Amino acid sequence: MNPADTKIAFIGLGLMGVPMAKNLLKAGYEVLGFDLSKEVAAKFSDEQKFHFANSPLQAIEGANVTILMLPDSSIIDALLWGADGQVGIADQLVKNSYLLDMSSSSPISSKANNQKLEELGIRFVDAPVSGGVKKAIDGSLAIIVGGKQEHFQEIKPLLEHMGKNITYVGDAGAAHAVKALNNYVSAAGLIAASEALNAATAFGLDPHTVNQVLNASTGRNNTTENKVEAYMLNDAFNSGFSLALMRKDVQIALGFIEGMKCYSSLAKQCVQTAQEADQKLGKGADHTAMYDYVRSQKH
Ligand code: NAD
Repeated sequence: MNPADTKIAFIGLGLMGVPMAKNLLKAGYEVLGFDLSKEVAAKFSDEQKFHFANSPLQAIEGANVTILMLPDSSIIDALLWGADGQVGIADQLVKNSYLLDMSSSSPISSKANNQKLEELGIRFVDAPVSGGVKKAIDGSLAIIVGGKQEHFQEIKPLLEHMGKNITYVGDAGAAHAVKALNNYVSAAGLIAASEALNAATAFGLDPHTVNQVLNASTGRNNTTENKVEAYMLNDAFNSGFSLALMRKDVQIALGFIEGMKCYSSLAKQCVQTAQEADQKLGKGADHTAMYDYVRSQKH
């Protein structure tokens, strides 16, 4: 999978897609990008090997690897198989090429897509990421991989340009399952930290000091370590990961846990809280604004 004979189609150039595609360009790959928002093309104006396609079908022409970094599975299913007059790209993908879904998608949809793509001679790999925009920029994302072992081995050198901690977890869909579960655990930590800091403040305590104590104690988690000071207590709420996407992730996780017929009491509560916060804060809210939502709730 070296840059000289690999052409990459990259569909979904949002907060994560742009820096990930830039790291592939830096490694010498040719990238044909597509996004519904044409303005993103300007972000690649300095890149010699980047071309902005007019359509997904144009982007995938001759591509041996197609990467998706899109919001959710309903968008991916419509892109692959067509919907509402939109033509699907699945049967136009180059035979034996890779379709790498790096979005945080539903494991159920990914399993189904893998089966249908296999029949078309396409190698599906789910490779969702963790670490946010910062790690997407410096190429140090954690990447979870699902699909055939031999496909993972072939695609790994390419993934190494976008991430550092790359873990193979099982068959197609497995990585999307693990990713959803990770994001559920992370969301639970965010909600718990928001509630704890809000109650501490109401008691007259300094939330900065309380967070220091959490970080020196067993209550520490990714929110207390990396988000509270950087995005929450300063009211910046600009981590680059939206509340709408977090809500989608916890919904996927709950569906998965229930589908496995496992206990889901906290997952249910996280989905409800995420839904209420998303509705109250509206479109464009960052997930760290969960703290703002918690502060605004009166009992
Ligand atoms: P984003 O909303 O910034 O970007 C999504 C992009 O997809 C947008 O530019 C949008 O215009 C484009 N798009 C939507 N529908 C499209 C279509 N049909 N065809 C082409 N383009 C289309 O989202 P993001 O933050 O970059 O996240 C992308 C994925 O990565 C999501 O699944 C998210 O859950 C996951 N993720 C995000 C983060 C983060 O910190 N932002 C971290 C890990 C994983």
